[in-house]
Amino acid sequence: RVKGDGRTGHRFFEQEMDAQLQSRRHLEQDLIQALKAGEFALHYQPLVDLASNQISECEALLRWHHPERGMVPPGEFIRVAEEIGLIIQLGEWVLQQACREAVSWPIPARVKVNLSPIQFVDQNLVRTVKRALEESGLPSSRLGVEITESVLLQNNEATLATLHELRQLGISIAMDDFGTGYSSLSYLRSFPFDQIKIDQSFIRDLMLRNDCRAIVDSIISLGHSLGMTTTAEGVELPEQVTELRKLGCDFAQGYLFGRPQPLHSVQEMLAAPRPPLDDAA
Ligand code: C2E
Ligand code: MG
Ligand code: MG
Ligand code: MG
Repeated sequence: RVKGDGRTGHRFFEQEMDAQLQSRRHLEQDLIQALKAGEFALHYQPLVDLASNQISECEALLRWHHPERGMVPPGEFIRVAEEIGLIIQLGEWVLQQACREAVSWPIPARVKVNLSPIQFVDQNLVRTVKRALEESGLPSSRLGVEITESVLLQNNEATLATLHELRQLGISIAMDDFGTGYSSLSYLRSFPFDQIKIDQSFIRDLMLRNDCRAIVDSIISLGHSLGMTTTAEGVELPEQVTELRKLGCDFAQGYLFGRPQPLHSVQEMLAAPRPPLDDAA
C-alpha cells in the first residue's frame, strides 16, 4: 500500500465508523432485551460510620450480566441507557429491586439508589419512588438517593421541587462525586441535601498531596456548617481512615470496608458483629 494514499485512509475511516455504529446498535438492542431477560442485578457496597465502625447504609450499584460478554460495568452502559431513554424503565427497576431487597436485610441500614438526571426530567419520578416504597413495605427513612451535580444544571425549578417532594417523603438525599462537576457552592445552599459524598479522586491523593487534604478538609467543614453529613468515597487504605477521622468526616465507603457485592454476601456482612473502632486508630 502506498504511503499517504488518502483514499485508503478514508475508506478505512468509514469502515471503522460502520463498525462503531454497528456495535453501538448491538449494545442498544442488547440493553433493551436485558431488562426483559432479567440480566440486571444490584450489588451493594457498605458505608461505614467512622465514629462507631457500624454500617449505616449500603449503596446499590447496577450490574449487567451479559450472556456473552459477561459482567458489563455501569460505566459502559448507563450513558447509552440514558441516550435511548431506557434509563427511565431501568431506573424504576433499580428503585423497586433495591427496596424489595433491603426489606430483608438483617439490620435496618439505609439503601442508597443512584438517580440519573434523565429520571428528573420524567414527571413520574416521585410517584415511582412512592410506589417502590409501598409495594416493598420499606419505610421511607430507609431509602436514600444519590444525585450528581449535573442534575442541578437542568431546569432548576422543577428539579428543586422534585427534590423537596422526595425529602418530604422522608428520603435522604446525597450529592454524589462532589468536587468533580460544576461545584457551584450556591447549589449546596439552594438544594436540600442531607449528605455530601466527597469524590474518590480527592481521597486517592489525600495522603500524597496537601492541596487534596485542604480540599477534603474544607468540604467537610462546609458540609457540617450547612447541616449535612460527609462521606468519603473510594477509601482503600487504613491511613486514609485515620486522616478522615482527624478531619471529622462522618462516613466512609471503599474497598477497605467492602467491595460492591451480591445481596447474599452483603446480608452476611450486615449480620456479622462489628467491633467498635479502636480510638487510638
Ligand atoms: P458512584 O455512584 O460514584 O459509585 C461509586 C463507584 O466507585 C462504584 O463504581 C464503585 O464500585 C466504585 N468504588 C467503590 N469503592 C471504591 C474504591 O475503594 N476504589 C475504587 N477505585 N473504586 C471504588 P461502579 O459500580 O462501576 O459504578 C460507577 C458509576 O455508575 C456510579 O458511580 C454511578 O454513577 C453509576 N451507577 C451505578 N449504578 C447505577 C444505577 O443504578 N443508576 C444510575 N443512574 N447510575 C448508576
Ligand atoms: Mg453513588
Ligand atoms: Mg460517587
Ligand atoms: Mg462516580
